[in-house]
Amino acid sequence: MTDRERAGDLRLIGLTMRYGPTVALDDVSLHIRAGSFTAVVGPSGCGKSTLLRVLSGLEAPSGGEVEIDGRSVTGQGAGERRVAMVFQDYALYPHMTVAGNISFGLRLQARHGRRNGPSRQQIDQRVHEVAELLGLGALLRRKPGQLSGGQRQRVALGRAIVRRPSVLLLDEPLSALDAQLRADARAELLRLHREIGATVVLVTHDQHEALSMATELVVLRDGRVVQGGTPQELYERPSTEFVATFVGAPAMNLCPDTGGGRLGWRPAEGRLLTPGEEPEGFVAEGVTDVCAYTGSGQDVLCRSPAGDFVLQQREGDRWLTPGEMLRVSVPEHRLHRFDEAGQRRAD
Ligand code: ADP
Ligand code: MG
Repeated sequence: MTDRERAGDLRLIGLTMRYGPTVALDDVSLHIRAGSFTAVVGPSGCGKSTLLRVLSGLEAPSGGEVEIDGRSVTGQGAGERRVAMVFQDYALYPHMTVAGNISFGLRLQARHGRRNGPSRQQIDQRVHEVAELLGLGALLRRKPGQLSGGQRQRVALGRAIVRRPSVLLLDEPLSALDAQLRADARAELLRLHREIGATVVLVTHDQHEALSMATELVVLRDGRVVQGGTPQELYERPSTEFVATFVGAPAMNLCPDTGGGRLGWRPAEGRLLTPGEEPEGFVAEGVTDVCAYTGSGQDVLCRSPAGDFVLQQREGDRWLTPGEMLRVSVPEHRLHRFDEAGQRRAD
């Protein structure tokens, strides 16, 4: 592995960011490994964009440190870090062509860097490399106003990667795209990550996006890290009820446990019991209310005095209609247990 491939190891140490009385980041410590695709998820307002701005150097934190490849960059500005950011609204220059937008940072560098900056020829070459990588070759002369949403997004990505950053920060990059385009763009981002080898930190409020793309997942709430790990670790062993319900869709069912505390199970883990069948494990009883067709099955909302729950039926399972009484069993090893407040996993 070359040095370039190893670059991009991020350490956040006790990061705090205050805006007047608002605490946007509250003692955030994280290790983001070089070359990882890390997704930071959490509801709107939990501090995701703030975290990226602090990582990029656009804003200095109120407290704590940022280290890149073992060196503190806390006092450095955005231009001094090999970190590039794609903003939520792309922030393209409307009066510049695609080529102009992509090369902007390099041209600035050429003007200020004089001897160290890239030559015109080098700039042209890099713009063409990036355009090739992102399929923008035929669009270089267009202005942002003449592009589709997906194309604009690729230009914003191009502008970020043309400087060969070791860290690429993406702030909700897919939220402006419609559903079909979003699926394509997801695949493209993963391919891009593979090809440029940079550490990618993607911020999103969409847990599905995070689960499906990331090698590492971090859940943020009210400026604090609730849990970090692989997507599978967070899905299979959420540390709190918040993570349990935020990661995975439909959300985990939760109800009081007979022995105290709280009990959770995923809608896909419930199995419909036939009348008179001897149940094993946990049993939920309820009446079907909303039966939502999903193409590959049904998401069935059931009403129950012990707490409403959702049952996910798959192709081949019995088709449910509103108003049916049913019993569902969940095997013991598929149950999640939390303390009374839902703040801690109990097993
Ligand atoms: P997210 O990206 O997760 O939606 P943000 O990082 O944008 O959240 O915001 C986190 C919190 O910090 C919010 O309460 C927001 O209102 C506040 N905030 C963010 N930027 C500023 C700012 N420049 N001035 C004042 N408050 C801010
Ligand atoms: Mg944001």
